[in-house]
Amino acid sequence: MVTQNPISPQCYSDSGNDKHSSIEVALAEALAAYGVMLTPRASGRFERFDAPDKPKGNGNGWYRIHGPQAASFGIWHLDVSEVVTLHGASDPEAATQARLDAMRDRERQEHERQQQAAKAADKARRWWAEAGPGDPGHPWLAGKRLPPYNLRQRGEALLVPLYFEGELVNLERIFPDGSKRPLKGGRVKGVASLIGHLAGAGRVLVAEGWSTAAALHEAMGAPVVVARNADNLAPVARRLRQRMPAEVGITVCGDDDRHLPAKGKANKGAVEARHAALAIGGDLLMPQFCDGCESCTDFADVRLCRLGGGHGE
Ligand SMILES: [Zn+2]
Repeated sequence: MVTQNPISPQCYSDSGNDKHSSIEVALAEALAAYGVMLTPRASGRFERFDAPDKPKGNGNGWYRIHGPQAASFGIWHLDVSEVVTLHGASDPEAATQARLDAMRDRERQEHERQQQAAKAADKARRWWAEAGPGDPGHPWLAGKRLPPYNLRQRGEALLVPLYFEGELVNLERIFPDGSKRPLKGGRVKGVASLIGHLAGAGRVLVAEGWSTAAALHEAMGAPVVVARNADNLAPVARRLRQRMPAEVGITVCGDDDRHLPAKGKANKGAVEARHAALAIGGDLLMPQFCDGCESCTDFADVRLCRLGGGHGE
């Protein structure tokens, strides 16, 4: 017997639902689907509420009841903007108002996102200008046995410069324990870093992480573009293909997440690398693992593994 989840946000958006006796009840149930428990007030004004997944007092949610048959609500950080109407709504004006609210809220969110990204880009440029070169003795670099190449350093964090359309827009910080964080609110979609120089290159490589890119750069001497993650490989490869002369070859170098299929997941690194290579008609290069090694998944691992004498010996 399959039991369907009775509370799904879509149920309330203009669907008309006979069981609601009033717009307050309909709105309360729609909010409950997002874990928000409150008794709505039909004040006609914007009312704020706390999103349940953020600290108390966050005020990240809003709602407005326009009339007996239409309301709207939104939760900013979740990108939620919805309209709630009662079945057979005969107040099209209120419904239109509710839709306008939701639309304006979405525009406001987009505007806020852009402002945050612009602020993060300012910070990135400032920090980048102030930072010294990456310390070759930084614990993370030492552990990887890699030189700092294009990295700079601020305090204990290594900085990876992230560019979008030729401009520095964000920084990925790599901490001594290996955790990585971009600047809050900064652009992450489509951003990339570069080890080496594109000018005069006969071939350019594209890889996921900085350490993989550094290992490839060391081994092959070619410039390597860092896409940061598997999902970003294809967008970054496409932009690179548009930018580079046709005679310059592009090779996508994938991570081999070979441990994932056993867990019922796709080998994301391999799948996305192949997808990116196909998307630009480029070459694909995957790491060749040492005999008996079960832990390595990328070119940086393999290099380290070989430097350390390999696994299982
Ligand atoms: Zn290995």
